[in-house]
Amino acid sequence: MTLSDTLRQRLAERRARNLHREIKTLAAAPGPVAQVDGRELVAFSSNDYLGLALHPDVIAAQRAGAGLGAGATASHLVNGHLQIHAELQEKIAQATGREAAIVFSSGYMANVGTICALIGRGDHIISDKLNHASLIDGARLCGADSRRFAHSDLNALERQLQRAAESDGNTLVAVDGVYSMDGDCAPLAGIAALCRRHNAWLMVDEAHGFGVMGSENFPFAGCVSAAGLGQDDVPIVMGTLGKAAGNAGAFVAGSRELIDYLVQFARPYIYTTGMPPAVAAGCLAAIETMLREPQLRHRLARNIAHFRARAAELDLPLSESASAIQPLLLGNETTVMRVADELLQSGFLVGAIRPPTVPAGTARLRITLSAAHNTQQIDDLLAALAQALRCDDSAVVMS
Ligand SMILES: *Cc1c(COP(=O)(O)O)cnc(C)c1O
Repeated sequence: MTLSDTLRQRLAERRARNLHREIKTLAAAPGPVAQVDGRELVAFSSNDYLGLALHPDVIAAQRAGAGLGAGATASHLVNGHLQIHAELQEKIAQATGREAAIVFSSGYMANVGTICALIGRGDHIISDKLNHASLIDGARLCGADSRRFAHSDLNALERQLQRAAESDGNTLVAVDGVYSMDGDCAPLAGIAALCRRHNAWLMVDEAHGFGVMGSENFPFAGCVSAAGLGQDDVPIVMGTLGKAAGNAGAFVAGSRELIDYLVQFARPYIYTTGMPPAVAAGCLAAIETMLREPQLRHRLARNIAHFRARAAELDLPLSESASAIQPLLLGNETTVMRVADELLQSGFLVGAIRPPTVPAGTARLRITLSAAHNTQQIDDLLAALAQALRCDDSAVVMS
């Protein structure tokens, strides 16, 4: 078949299954109001949980950072590692309570690079079934024996750990701290205890925990810290700077040895141009702002609590989630698309998440909350949602 015939056929198939995705073009990052095709929409779809993408201090720092060069001009190991990157890494290590940190250009690269650097053929990787695609791709690419366990099921994880122990090789357990499409937290204390008992290495992806939750001493470190766990319990912590930090890039934090090892062996770190200096400056300012303005996290927590209380009153199909990610599981793709479309008509931008991003039959609206939302915007969204769901008889509302 020609390339063009192949593409046309596969695209048609995707459309027929109601799975075709369209890109929306925004005039600027949502703060949380976005301009789309000349219309103003309130976005409940961004991962900018603290509103830092449009924070004036962050933007000023990022502008100033551009003075160091528009680009890093080479990979970190050649001449692309600037003082501003070193300062950012130091700040991340401090904020996460780790000895050291390394920055990657994206969370996808951090996950693939770290997994592939740590394990390979003859080793084992054990992943939660709902892990993010970047962890899944790392597991596929690393060449290790790859097994999955039922979502957050400690007994199922232990069975996989026992099976892995039957043959040689090291074992890496990789989980999301907060699940990106469900918003629930991994049972990290139990997972860490099992890993210790079975001599497995634990890696936690803090994409949606970093900046949102933490402990008294490390209020923004993420769910590892919130679960009372330290570097000995979770030796490999990954986080992205594209979510609560409102920017771009990612990090791995851990022991000095781990970071030195990744500098040597993580190919997506070695063979790519360094993070633009302006991005590093913006990320540094974002983390400083988190620490200086704890009210951002408190406002987010209030918005989450308000959303959940009002949604419960309206009998909406809420999930068990204490994070900024509040999915409404509607089941089938058609319903999700129709409701998302109606919300769009009412002025709200909400993510319609369909397979293969989530398992078949669990299509959902992925509503994300931010410190930048006000109570009125949340109430208006919920009213529009209740309205859209009420006039739907075909909805397979899942509990
Ligand atoms: C978004 C996300 C990533 C990827 O991070 P990027 O910096 O956007 O590449 C990794 N893991 C999880 C759980 C995510 O949600």
